[in-house]
Amino acid sequence: MSYDPENIFAKILRGEIPSTRVYEDDETLAFMDIMPRSDGHLLVIPKTPCRNVLDASPEQLASVMKTVQKLSQAVMKAFEADGVTIQQFNEAAGGQEVFHLHFHVLPRYEGVSMRPPGNMGDFEVIAAQADKIKAALG
Ligand code: 5GP
Repeated sequence: MSYDPENIFAKILRGEIPSTRVYEDDETLAFMDIMPRSDGHLLVIPKTPCRNVLDASPEQLASVMKTVQKLSQAVMKAFEADGVTIQQFNEAAGGQEVFHLHFHVLPRYEGVSMRPPGNMGDFEVIAAQADKIKAALG
């Protein structure tokens, strides 16, 4: 399977469609998921192309995981979360829907189940959560 440069996250990286960004460095970008399955649900992607874990380089994986850890620590602080679930899917059969490598960072709260997938979040609520994450990152 080859990388499709017209996938939605490639368009977000190029600024062709809007996103609520919370962090970026030379190699990675973190932005809010528009269909959050928990309060503060965000995605971390490499800035360079690859479909998923199956074709990513060790360098892409290393830089993305570094940002996943940074954002996991930030959401714990921002939302006084009780834990963090990290999810990552590979190819359609593995549950992947957008074919640019991404890790889900889902803050978790004691006794609160993850919401079902596919429900659009409220833009203003997501924007306020993004501000909290940015503040926690300092
Ligand atoms: P996956 O490929 O890991 O199964 O799911 C893709 C994720 O991307 C879903 O959680 C979905 O809500 C999110 N997503 C899909 N389209 C967009 C978009 O245009 N913007 C943002 N921020 N997230 C998206």
